Amino acid sequence: MARYTGPACKLCRREGEKLFLKGTRCLTEKCAIDRRAYPPGQHGAGGARRRKTSEYQRQLREKQKVKRMYGLSESQFRQTFERVRRLPGLTGTNLLVALELRLDNIVHRMGFAPSRRSARQLVTHRHVEVNGKRVDIPSYRVRSGDEIRVREKSREITAVRASLEGLSRATPMSWISVDSEQASGKVTEVPTRDTIPVNAQEQLIVELYSK
Ligand code: SF4
Repeated sequence: MARYTGPACKLCRREGEKLFLKGTRCLTEKCAIDRRAYPPGQHGAGGARRRKTSEYQRQLREKQKVKRMYGLSESQFRQTFERVRRLPGLTGTNLLVALELRLDNIVHRMGFAPSRRSARQLVTHRHVEVNGKRVDIPSYRVRSGDEIRVREKSREITAVRASLEGLSRATPMSWISVDSEQASGKVTEVPTRDTIPVNAQEQLIVELYSK
């Protein structure tokens, strides 16, 4: 199935929590989940209360939530899962680490784009370099020690400039160092579960895909 390109807020309302898909708007009173905290659709307001939740539904919803948070299609998400399944350690944690180390996510985490969607666009439009070379693949796997930089000319793009201006006020994540002046940053170490600020029960996703 293709990647979802419809209204982002609908996805948050479907999952019943903020997925932070629209950048700064998510932090304002315009956030749809603050105004209409029930699922979208004709039966949204009353349906969720009536429905009983099975174990399968809980697993499915958790998978959908994380997949939507990172903006992946089902096949991309499944491929990532199959890749990390063979790695040592907890598969659920490995899945989140792999999602965090995608280039589009790192660009967003470094504060060069307000959302993962816009970070993906920056990458595909060739505005981002990894270790001095242009990379236009959003799923590119960033490694510890890699340096990510927004190209000098690209820093004048309005959205990038606005993000960079807000950056000096933001607290970077413990496994990332950022130089807002140079619009560059480094992944200093591979994140651990404790340092990934994602509200998810990843074990439910492992259970779902292990059936
Ligand atoms: Fe989700 Fe952001 Fe829309 Fe709020 S504004 S519903 S957090 S995408």
